[in-house]
Amino acid sequence: MDVENVNPITNNEENEHSEAIPIEVIPIEYEGNFENGKMLPPPVRSFDSREKLLNYIHDFSFSQGYATTIRDSERDKYVTIGCDRGGTYRNRTNIPLEERKKKSGSRLINCPFRIKGVKLVGGSWILRISNGTHNHEASKDMSGHPSFRRFSNEEFLRIKDMCKAGIPSRQVLTLLRQANPKLRAISRTVYNTKAKIRKEKLRGRTPIQALLEELSGGGFLHNIKVDMEGRLTHLFFAHPHSIKLSRNYSNVFVMDCTYKTNKFKMPLLDIIGVSSFNTSFYSCFVFLSKEEECDYAWALTMFKKMLGSKEPTVIVTDRELALMNAIEVIFPRTTNLLCFWHVETNIITNCKRFFEAKEDWDTFITTWTELVQSNSMSSFSEGWKDFEASYKEKVVMIDYIKKTWLPLKERFVKAWTDVHLHFGNRVTSRAEGAHGVLKSYLQVSTSDLHVAKEKICLAVENNFHGITTQVASEKIRIPHNICVPFFKELVHCVSTFALKKLFEQYKLALSDSWFSVCKGQFTATMGLPCAHMMRCMKDRALQLSDIHPQWRIDKLSFEDGDIESNNETDDLTGLFQKLEKSYHQWPIAQKEYAQAQLSQLINSSVPVVFDPPIHPHKGRPSNSNTKKVAVSSTRRDPSGFEIVEKSRKCSICHEVGHNSRTCKHKNADPECVGASNSTENNLLDALDLNCIPCDADFFLLD
Ligand SMILES: [Zn+2]
Ligand SMILES: [Zn+2]
Ligand SMILES: [Zn+2]
Repeated sequence: MDVENVNPITNNEENEHSEAIPIEVIPIEYEGNFENGKMLPPPVRSFDSREKLLNYIHDFSFSQGYATTIRDSERDKYVTIGCDRGGTYRNRTNIPLEERKKKSGSRLINCPFRIKGVKLVGGSWILRISNGTHNHEASKDMSGHPSFRRFSNEEFLRIKDMCKAGIPSRQVLTLLRQANPKLRAISRTVYNTKAKIRKEKLRGRTPIQALLEELSGGGFLHNIKVDMEGRLTHLFFAHPHSIKLSRNYSNVFVMDCTYKTNKFKMPLLDIIGVSSFNTSFYSCFVFLSKEEECDYAWALTMFKKMLGSKEPTVIVTDRELALMNAIEVIFPRTTNLLCFWHVETNIITNCKRFFEAKEDWDTFITTWTELVQSNSMSSFSEGWKDFEASYKEKVVMIDYIKKTWLPLKERFVKAWTDVHLHFGNRVTSRAEGAHGVLKSYLQVSTSDLHVAKEKICLAVENNFHGITTQVASEKIRIPHNICVPFFKELVHCVSTFALKKLFEQYKLALSDSWFSVCKGQFTATMGLPCAHMMRCMKDRALQLSDIHPQWRIDKLSFEDGDIESNNETDDLTGLFQKLEKSYHQWPIAQKEYAQAQLSQLINSSVPVVFDPPIHPHKGRPSNSNTKKVAVSSTRRDPSGFEIVEKSRKCSICHEVGHNSRTCKHKNADPECVGASNSTENNLLDALDLNCIPCDADFFLLD
């Protein structure tokens, strides 16, 4: 907004709602007939109150083609009003006009028009004309004048509500216009109003102070780390809803960083959990200044504290070595699986150039995909032998695969991954989908952490309510096809998602034509009985004890106070008890010393924290050959893989958007279908890859 040489307290557009008293809009009865657009001064008359006088002048000047602003006023004495084109432009920024980035103009041309409202002894207000002339023509379209673009008090309150709901500015204006077609406000008016609402909310605090204060209350779990200058470098926080969900569903998590979420360009580690319905939930968020092992270790230590006594069985990540190392240190008993889809995109990026003929490339990538989906270790090692032999002349390529991916095969090849309880999560697409939703709430990448946290909380709350609603509705709903005695114990107690998986196995068990040797993979990965086990159960129905607690909805409760009591409080109570015991035995001097120490602790204030330093985004260098995107965009940069192969085609049906493994035309093994993730097909839609710039021959995609 332009800074103009008028009283900033009374005239700036952003102060248009500063009056505490709601302005009563009174119908104006004009005394005499005034022709419109003649630039006449208002007729001299008296008013019951200052507000009525101001309202009258506002409406009268509108009819005459000019706008007024308050120049000066003293409470209960007088108010001086001028034309909004009075005064001259004064550059209050330190930047000379010609160097200012934002090209702005001024409507100020020193218009001499001036009138005065004076309070009389009786309490009424009278209008006096000091100078009734203007040095300019009447405006034809009054929306050029900020004072006529103001929002009414009612509109102001609506904007406040819409801000809370995270509705973007452009939609705010659309919604307000629907209610009031005559609205003259422009998007800048909305931005200014929002800035004012924000300022009100901060109540003089810096955004970071406000953020930390909000996180200290309301059941959040949070922790920060600052550098030598007191600048924030790490911020962990978990919403109270997220804590409940994470402790209820503590088996499988997907971890992935997302970028372009805040103006400090801090990567955001987004930890995603899996619900009974196979949907995702936000577990916790960690803003990091760097992505080194120690940063991840700090984040995971906080995550571990949040889980309390529980430990995840499986964490799925991309090949982010720092994160993988940190997981090994903080969760040594947890299995860290790698997203096999990201492995494949890396293979595509780095191996495509070794193939000229399309058929050869298709064969190569199909063979690789089959290798990754090997059901047994022996079939993998046989397959690998053949693979290595067929491509032995491509020494560099085979060497790359051998060095980069072969040592990690236990983390993404089905034969090894499918002995772990991963509930069908072998890819990180869940995190990518969650990032996408989060970004739709964040809207811009230029928010400070306070705003980002508020928007994130909005996403968390909506997601949580989605899950609790589903729990409630599935507790009273029976899927039609499950109405068989074999399932009767499970109805209302197990999620529909798990029931469907069970029913698929049940149909296989009943089928006369289905024979297969049990590899135990379905049960191991899903925590549900497989078709083979069902065949052995002939005489009994499924029992709740056959079902992993992950899929149980009967025991779930997200009410407040259900969280197992917090470790930290327990620790503190224990310490106090010990302290009290010893205290009574101490000599007086030691008692006094202890008292002094304790009161010092109590009175110590939280250290002042400053904004984080701004780091360049991890990602493609800005000079690279990619399309320009608005600076505030939350859209991820294109990754190397997308540049190498924009239209990846399926080698079976040759359609774009999926590969041979996810192709509908491929007949899949029933046990694999049971354990595969249904969202895999939407991978390309939900992508959020951010690539690491790398000068090496091969580069990794995360
Ligand atoms: Zn004027
Ligand atoms: Zn089986
Ligand atoms: Zn296909």
